[in-house]
Amino acid sequence: MSPSVDGFNFDPATFYDITVRDDNAACINYEQTFDVSCVYSNAGVPRVQCGRCGKPMTIIAATRLDPQPEMS
Ligand SMILES: [Zn+2]
Repeated sequence: MSPSVDGFNFDPATFYDITVRDDNAACINYEQTFDVSCVYSNAGVPRVQCGRCGKPMTIIAATRLDPQPEMS
């Protein structure tokens, strides 16, 4: 079974396009959403941190990249 993050199932070592939201009420980005392309899932847990507050952002959408980018 694939690891599950915030209700999404991610395959390990896979690239995704991810939409995230900042849920830190103290942050200037609070409740803003960001599209992040080409996020690597590592062991199956993609992490996107807010550039302002450094907290992990909440994943609200994810699309597996097809084709997958070449690993260099
Ligand atoms: Zn933030």
